[in-house]
Amino acid sequence: MQKSIALIAHDKKKLDLAIFAKDHSAVFSKFHLIATSTTGGVLQDKARLEVERLRSGPEGGDLQVGARIAEDKVLAVIFFRDPLTAQPHEPDVSALMRICDVHNVPLATNLGTAEAIVAWIEEQIQEGTLDARS
Ligand code: PGA
Repeated sequence: MQKSIALIAHDKKKLDLAIFAKDHSAVFSKFHLIATSTTGGVLQDKARLEVERLRSGPEGGDLQVGARIAEDKVLAVIFFRDPLTAQPHEPDVSALMRICDVHNVPLATNLGTAEAIVAWIEEQIQEGTLDARS
């Protein structure tokens, strides 16, 4: 079964994520994408990607992503966090990062690591070691 890529961004980072996702839409369109609700809407509008939208982050969306990770259904998480703004659902964000560490799921929290994850995915597609849509 193909694993999903999870995309999440805090409000001030949503546009950055949409631009990043659009730049790499050739890769992202090969995967089932999951996103927290508002992020998913922005990705659909601005990057024209098909996305399964979960709950909004403050309403449990980060925990839903965490549950998919625990079920071994997630290849990587790209989570553009806002390091300068306090989030009401900080405990959920910590839980998501923790479960990534428990299951060794690559987690990018900024553009630099997100680029590295996409390069890693592209490499695996080229090697034929990843279950990606053609
Ligand atoms: P949102 O959630 O995409 O619904 O805004 C993201 C978050 O704040 O965790």
